[in-house]
Amino acid sequence: MSAPLLRVETLHVWFELAGGGELHAVRGIDFELAVGERFGLVGESGCGKTTAILALMGLLPPNASVAGRVVLDGEDILARGEDSVSPHRWRDIAMVFQGAMNAFNPVRRIGDQIVEPMELHRVAEGKEAHRRAAELLELVGIARNRIESYPHELSGGMRQRAAIAMALACKPKLVLADEPTTALDVMVQAQILNLLVSLSEELGLALVLVTHDLPVVAQTCGRTAVMYAGRIAEAGPLDALYHDPRHPYTRLLFATTPDLFEQREVVSIPGVPPRLDREPAGCAFAPRCDSAFAPCASVTPRALIVGDGRTAECHLNDPAARAAS
Ligand code: SF4
Repeated sequence: MSAPLLRVETLHVWFELAGGGELHAVRGIDFELAVGERFGLVGESGCGKTTAILALMGLLPPNASVAGRVVLDGEDILARGEDSVSPHRWRDIAMVFQGAMNAFNPVRRIGDQIVEPMELHRVAEGKEAHRRAAELLELVGIARNRIESYPHELSGGMRQRAAIAMALACKPKLVLADEPTTALDVMVQAQILNLLVSLSEELGLALVLVTHDLPVVAQTCGRTAVMYAGRIAEAGPLDALYHDPRHPYTRLLFATTPDLFEQREVVSIPGVPPRLDREPAGCAFAPRCDSAFAPCASVTPRALIVGDGRTAECHLNDPAARAAS
């Protein structure tokens, strides 16, 4: 088997809080991605998924600390902090930010902003860079002459396409897309997702798609990880997670999503995610879990292999924990 393009190993992120103390936002996550693979990171707001991908890009604020390894094409890009990640940012690993309006400088032309990472990494300069920027706009379905437009002159869908063009500027191997279709209407959302899938297939681009929206992952990704309270609760092929969830949170998350083809009640998950400025005792999902049993309140579940390419962090999958209860 060939080596993965990306390997995230025991990634932790803490934020130092202004009033003292720490918020442990990402609590030791692991995942891998093959060349050209599309992988979803799903979960409720505040589960740590955006923080995790900002750590991969080295774009966390100064009050953040990171531990663990992010191995891209065999190189640990976090090993020496900014010195080791900056040569890869935009060149090998690029990002489509949540809310394209925020991704662009409102007083600079779209074309100039797409050219910037190319010139920074000496991929192309001057006229050649502008020619490539126009080509990229065309590739994502925007007329070449829009290279002269300012962000406010584009519709929401066009801005999101332009943000994808910017992410592709240096021909990266991996694109991280953070809620790329939030705030777009369903038609434009479908167009953007189709665009991401076709670009991934045409260019051999690997994609990590961060979203709270399971149908978005279902449309785009083969494998997914479900995050909860900074951990990966369950990971594996999307089909397997849907048909045979091995973590109650995964089951409930799917149950919150309406299904046109299946007559079933749509539920909501009771309660709220835990605060991350204190370590939860036992399983972080226990206060909301409808399957909790004796060990859940005091023993933290570990990741267990629960099938081909599947892991889940839940005592229900541990025969020893079940037998002891
Ligand atoms: Fe529920 Fe216990 Fe599994 Fe946590 S470990 S998800 S509380 S059954």
